[in-house]
Amino acid sequence: MTPLGEELRLLIETNGPIPFDRFMELSLSHPKYGYYLTRDPFGAAGDFVTAPEISQMFGELIGLWAAQVWTQMDRPARVRLVELGPGRGSLMADALRACRVMPEFLEAADICLVETSPVLRDVQRKRLSGAASRVAWYDALADVPPGPSIVIANEFFDALPVRHFVRTEEGWCEKLVGVDEDGQLFIGLDNTPETALRVEADVGETLEIGASAHRAMAELAARLVSHGGAALVVDYGHTKTALGETVQALWRHEAVDPLEAPGECDVTAHVDFASLSRAAAAMGARVSGPLAQGVFLERLGIHERARVLLGHSSEAQAADIESAVDRLTATEQRPGAGGRTAPGMGALFKALAVTSHDLTIPPGFEPPPEP
Ligand code: SAH
Repeated sequence: MTPLGEELRLLIETNGPIPFDRFMELSLSHPKYGYYLTRDPFGAAGDFVTAPEISQMFGELIGLWAAQVWTQMDRPARVRLVELGPGRGSLMADALRACRVMPEFLEAADICLVETSPVLRDVQRKRLSGAASRVAWYDALADVPPGPSIVIANEFFDALPVRHFVRTEEGWCEKLVGVDEDGQLFIGLDNTPETALRVEADVGETLEIGASAHRAMAELAARLVSHGGAALVVDYGHTKTALGETVQALWRHEAVDPLEAPGECDVTAHVDFASLSRAAAAMGARVSGPLAQGVFLERLGIHERARVLLGHSSEAQAADIESAVDRLTATEQRPGAGGRTAPGMGALFKALAVTSHDLTIPPGFEPPPEP
């Protein structure tokens, strides 16, 4: 049992079973043993690789996206450039470097990083030590001072905890994590059905509810509506709310059971973009997309950017650049050893923009004009 597993066992033996979302939240963010609070999980040696770690082009294109949005906002003298869950700080570092072509934007931008992990804050601090703009850290979006903002969230919403329900003869019963006679964690069902859930389904079907993601989006959208600005959410997920569960736990790039080693593996869920869109629209914000990541990056000019980089690169670097473009935009992964294909990042990942109503549609969300 991991140290967090022991803590959870004690907690559950004292207070009773906990809902799955609480388990997921503690697995990732327990102040002492939570996954993100104890390590830097990214890269080949870590548990997973994200788009900004695949290529500098990802952060560069998003930086230029933000600079263009600032222009659409009529260039406010001060703007908060907020990133939710900045990981290693690579996206922001690449974005700020690309924005040197628009120094007035860098001059206006206060960089606000929303990050709960002290380990990752350190990595981010080092990564951004040469940044021209002011950088400050916050525990939550609510702590970022008000004002016009441009908010970026790559693979943030997938880390927010989800609740799971199973349809029984009695109704929708929530999945709880309990402790069995051998002291092991296991999943059981609450006896009392949740009467507020009205979704129709056959007995045995499951339902995943991203209540935290919904709340986070509502808060973000309310901020944009009151103070002006835009948010860009990029994540893996689905465009229609559907039955079923999507939680996956990864340990060193392998799928594992999330209960097996709490605090040692990354636990994420597919983002329900339909639910995020509803949350944003309900607060009076305008929603654009979701759009496949591949299409979004192509509209922002990833191929043109790659051509520029290829002009200055060695043969080995050129191969890396080409493979990165392919990984970020491909709709299918290249067949593996078994010859099977799986959806590529270009299709599985989606981009969603949320803006205040005074803004025009942000770059990439409308097809570029014909040349
Ligand atoms: N955006 C980065 C990292 C994605 S991993 C990238 O694309 O590489 C998720 C990030 O969100 C980590 O930095 C993690 O520490 C942070 N995080 C997770 N839950 C959080 C929460 N509730 N509040 C703030 N940050 C959180």
